[in-house]
Amino acid sequence: MSAFNEERVLSVHHWTDRLFTFTTTREPSLRFSNGHFTMIGLRVDGKPLLRAYSVVSANYEDHLEFLSIKVADGPLTSRLQHIQVGDTLLVGRKPTGTLVVDYLLPGKRLYLLATGTGLAPFMSIVRDPQTYEKFEQVILVHGVRLVDELAYHDLLTEHLPAHELLGEMVASQLRYYPTVTRESFSNTGRITDLMESGKLFKDLGVPALDPTQDRVMICGSPGMLRDLKVLLKKHAFKEGNTSTPGDFVIERAFVEQ
Ligand SMILES: Cc1cc2nc3c(=O)[nH]c(=O)nc-3n(C[C@H](O)[C@H](O)[C@H](O)COP(=O)(O)OP(=O)(O)OC[C@H]3O[C@@H](n4cnc5c(N)ncnc54)[C@H](O)[C@@H]3O)c2cc1C
Repeated sequence: MSAFNEERVLSVHHWTDRLFTFTTTREPSLRFSNGHFTMIGLRVDGKPLLRAYSVVSANYEDHLEFLSIKVADGPLTSRLQHIQVGDTLLVGRKPTGTLVVDYLLPGKRLYLLATGTGLAPFMSIVRDPQTYEKFEQVILVHGVRLVDELAYHDLLTEHLPAHELLGEMVASQLRYYPTVTRESFSNTGRITDLMESGKLFKDLGVPALDPTQDRVMICGSPGMLRDLKVLLKKHAFKEGNTSTPGDFVIERAFVEQ
């Protein structure tokens, strides 16, 4: 049996000249936990060209959705950015990853900290009713350079709180905090700086970080992961993984070459 399913592209939406989203059909036998990533790609000269991608859609949905960067000379995304409805996408059959709520110890508040396409795994986690059963409050922080890069902003602020099944939970338990670093916006600055200065907590009206109550998931650039890991360890947070739950878990949004 092949390691990949062949799915059909159902829709494509370009947020900016660096960022786009697409949906595909979903082989019903594909199982994943919300927060997982899998290998996806295209056949190039008859051979699969694949990269790791977090699944944006929730695991109960009958389609798959992905959020992608466009790297001008990137082997995959220089091609992927041109996909059209009806094209074929290869999707790995073995999703995996550490950004799963079960890999965190019980807590009161869940912080989801993302930069750029690191938002992708959290989009499935905020659409999972289990997230709201496990945590009283869910705080999604998305850091980008430019306002237009705030993918899913309207979904998070308007559509999800009005969702037929999730709306009540989202409206009362989810807080969304978008922040922009290179333009003026309602919130500005790097996530690490906002946490170090305490501005994030003050703006949200929540207590400062507390390892007895708070749990954290992080997905972003290698630099962002490094800085936040130092900050959390300074506050006595312990890292969890797929075998031992902890106070925080991390996943790289991409690998620097
Ligand atoms: C666990 C994991 C999950 C991932 N999930 C996603 C996802 O959901 N969406 C997504 O777009 N990418 C994701 N990536 C990155 C992805 O695997 C590819 O690197 C990306 O699609 C670019 O592929 P490429 O072949 O065009 O260029 P590559 O040769 O893979 O990358 C070239 C360079 O582009 C930069 N780059 C790559 N990806 C990104 C990115 N996402 N944001 C900013 N800079 C980047 C890096 O500097 C990298 O060295 C993930 C990576 C990992 C390890």
